[in-house]
Amino acid sequence: MNVAELGEVLGSLGEPKWRGKQVAEAIYRQRIVDVEGITPLPKALREKLREEGWQVGRPSLVQVFTSVDGTERYLVQGPADGLTVETVWMPEGDEGEAGDTTGEEAGGEGGGRNWDRATICVSSQVGCAVNCQFCLTAKLGLQRNLTAGEIAGQVVAVLDRHGVEIGKDRVNLVFMGMGEPFLNYDNFMQGVRLLVEEVGLSPQRMTVSTSGIVPGIERFAQEPAEIRPKLAISLNAPNDQVRSEVMPINRKWPIEAVVDAVRGVKLRARERVTFEYVLLGGVTDQPKHAAEVARLVRRTGLPAKVNLIAWNPGPGVPYSTPSEDAVETFRRALGAEGVPVYLRRPRGRDIYAACGQLKRTVEAP
Ligand code: SAH
Ligand code: SF4
Repeated sequence: MNVAELGEVLGSLGEPKWRGKQVAEAIYRQRIVDVEGITPLPKALREKLREEGWQVGRPSLVQVFTSVDGTERYLVQGPADGLTVETVWMPEGDEGEAGDTTGEEAGGEGGGRNWDRATICVSSQVGCAVNCQFCLTAKLGLQRNLTAGEIAGQVVAVLDRHGVEIGKDRVNLVFMGMGEPFLNYDNFMQGVRLLVEEVGLSPQRMTVSTSGIVPGIERFAQEPAEIRPKLAISLNAPNDQVRSEVMPINRKWPIEAVVDAVRGVKLRARERVTFEYVLLGGVTDQPKHAAEVARLVRRTGLPAKVNLIAWNPGPGVPYSTPSEDAVETFRRALGAEGVPVYLRRPRGRDIYAACGQLKRTVEAP
């Protein structure tokens, strides 16, 4: 709930609506986890709220997996049902290098701070219906949508675990966890609004990734700049033929349709659209593919950059990781064609936290 909705609840109990602001402050800014702890409210009112069954519905991090690179993967469970999603914390040291952190240092809850900035990877659905052939999450199928509160709640729980101070610490969000955000559009955007308006994070530090859901991109294009995250498109192939093979959704919304929809987004000054490109060994990582991708990206006419991701393996997923040589050759080829290109370093591969590996691998206790 946002301030207004909280105000309605308090109003219905005969309280002034401005109490909604006190409650929002407490749960989103001070990150209070129970009604009892919302001390700006009189004790009698807190009692009454509890009697009426109101709770602070904060999801719990029921399991924590810690990678040698400092990445933490959480199994997150809300109070609604037993289903879990995964959320990932990726700290960066002051050199932008976290590869040398030991597991022990990284594991201490609320312990010494070994990060200078961090990125949180957020889930939008339990499982995913999109069926990309290279993605482990696809194997779950779609179990259900997350609510706006569950989407924002993941973030709040992780901010809390690491003692993040809003307005002081640099934290980025990527909506690149489990699920397709644009197939849960309303809840996703409502979650973003909670994170911007109540939690106080900037939408310019958030990126949402979509497999290319055209009606979702069209709605996204209408969102005001004050709450719209940056956009990333999972391109993942050099042309429609290969893309339809690895991402069957391409038969419904082919590359040109996706690009057309993206053209409708009014970009902010210096904002660029990201094209994510998973390198599948032998399938999408050949030099001729790089040349095609460069042409494709230029043809869009969009201010764009390409994020290369070497495919991360998962059990039962029939692809192979490209050789380091192939990755490097691909990156250089794009660069030489004048396309801004970045290589995404895999994070937390040892704990299955890397891109495309998020899947409920264990049951919550
Ligand atoms: N559903 C959204 C967001 C989550 S997936 C989307 O598909 O865009 C986030 C990114 O991980 C996508 O770009 C996807 O192509 C990539 N990805 C999926 N499986 C992967 C794997 N096994 N290795 C590397 N990247 C993968
Ligand atoms: Fe879903 Fe994204 Fe995985 Fe495709 S890559 S199955 S859209 S989570």
